[in-house]
Amino acid sequence: MSASIKKYLQLRAQVDQLTEQLASKHQKHMACKKGCDLCCMDYDVFPIEFEAMKEALKDQAVDTQASTIGNCIFLKDHVCQIYEHRPIICRTHGLPLLFMNNDQWELSACELNFTNFADEEFTPENTFPQDTFNSKLFMLNKAFLEESKGEHSEFELIPMQQLKDHLQPKDS
Ligand code: SF4
Repeated sequence: MSASIKKYLQLRAQVDQLTEQLASKHQKHMACKKGCDLCCMDYDVFPIEFEAMKEALKDQAVDTQASTIGNCIFLKDHVCQIYEHRPIICRTHGLPLLFMNNDQWELSACELNFTNFADEEFTPENTFPQDTFNSKLFMLNKAFLEESKGEHSEFELIPMQQLKDHLQPKDS
């Protein structure tokens, strides 16, 4: 495993630590549960995440037969088949995310959560700092591209569905 992928896995662990703290803090406002796939989409990821997932999933049989256009190929019967190895974006699902958009701070949270929560109750302490982690991921991806001398540019993303070519097929 390359040095940058090891660092990526450490970053992912930091994300898990923070999202667990936030989910616990907001427990009474969170409707997230196994079987809800409202946040699941056909995401694109940085090459470093793509490679980390590819390595982690190389021996895992995944059923991609049920996937439809626009849906994530890993979703089956409303459940993520690769939950342990899902990318960072999926690890923040449902939480209040704070990010900059057109020079303005924006907050986004799942419409099923925080149905009884005033906007002014959101603070830097109880929201996920998405830009901070995206910047760290961007820099790790840049190091990974330099290290691997791959064909991707630093702003390029890869559709997760391309992982299909690297999975063990599984009959449904
Ligand atoms: S990887 Fe898993 S959690 Fe992420 S979008 Fe796909 S099914 Fe949903």
